[in-house]
Amino acid sequence: MDLIGKVLAGATLSRQEWLSVISDRASYPDARLRSIASSIRDSIYGRKVFIRGLVEFTSFCRNDCYYCGLRRSNSRAERYRLSAEEILSACINGYSIGLRTFVLQGGEDMYWDDGRLTALVREIREACPDAAITLSVGERSEDSYRKLRQSGADRYLLRHETADAVHYSKLHPLSMSFQNRLECLRTLKRLGFQTGAGMMVGSPFSSEDTLASDMAFLQDLRPEMVGIGPFIPHRDTPFRDEMMGSVSLTLRMLSIVRIALPSALIPSTTALATASSDGQIDGLDAGANVIMPNITPSTERRKYLLYDNKKISEEEAGENIAWIIEKLRMAGYEGSLERGDHVQAIADIPHS
Ligand code: SAH
Repeated sequence: MDLIGKVLAGATLSRQEWLSVISDRASYPDARLRSIASSIRDSIYGRKVFIRGLVEFTSFCRNDCYYCGLRRSNSRAERYRLSAEEILSACINGYSIGLRTFVLQGGEDMYWDDGRLTALVREIREACPDAAITLSVGERSEDSYRKLRQSGADRYLLRHETADAVHYSKLHPLSMSFQNRLECLRTLKRLGFQTGAGMMVGSPFSSEDTLASDMAFLQDLRPEMVGIGPFIPHRDTPFRDEMMGSVSLTLRMLSIVRIALPSALIPSTTALATASSDGQIDGLDAGANVIMPNITPSTERRKYLLYDNKKISEEEAGENIAWIIEKLRMAGYEGSLERGDHVQAIADIPHS
């Protein structure tokens, strides 16, 4: 039995074995990985692609990640912060067109302390009782995560970025701790969040070796969601002259993650759509099953710039759900507005 057979039979692969799966293109050609990944996805979620409404609600950040355009040392970034009313009304508009998941993402903005953020989550919960609320606001204390969970947040996205400690220290300043990021992920899972991890592909100093560490880590953590996109340089960061991550390697990694974690919810990311014109559909064909159109008020949307040339098209944003669903249909997918919970989490959803 080859290594894919082993994974499908439920075995945990070593880092070395994951490295073979990632790098041995003769034994594991892209097309084979893609076809196994999409049949696994189809057998669990069918051809459904879950559509989430993404609100990028603040571009202030206390962190200084070398790759990210929102880093605090980027004095050229235009900063904005939506008010609670603006965020709530973006969600209510989304709810009225049928969306049942809202993803609130932002930099680590200290304005949004526990009091303000839990109050916001409660308001969204009240206005959209049967919608899932996903937060993605970085590292916080266990106590803070617990309060957010108790106020009605269901899911949390916190990419681990890389599971190799040395690599992590090349992407982040010393003040940021790899151990703490991993600890946050374990805490989120323990508190009952459907938890998302993930990494950039082709970030500076990465290699198939660091990706092998990512796979071993993901197989151990078993997150409910995994976000993967290519690294794209941003002109006002220390990584401005670094190369963009490979789209084909990103697609290959999407398939490998689907095979490792059959029931994961995996977005076909904006970074993938930015890096390649067919990126979003290619991502689905590789095994992804989620898309996250932007429902941030359009005046602020262009300011949330994690990387250069970020795809900000009006026709693919939340205003145009019908067009998005049609585009999915033409590619053989069924766009779905349902909550789209992870299959193993459905049993213990508190708010349905
Ligand atoms: N502050 C939140 C949200 C971060 S932005 C947090 O810490 O989780 C969401 C993701 O965008 C990051 O986790 C990172 O993986 C990705 N990202 C940031 N800069 C990027 C770049 N230059 N290219 C590609 N992806 C990037």
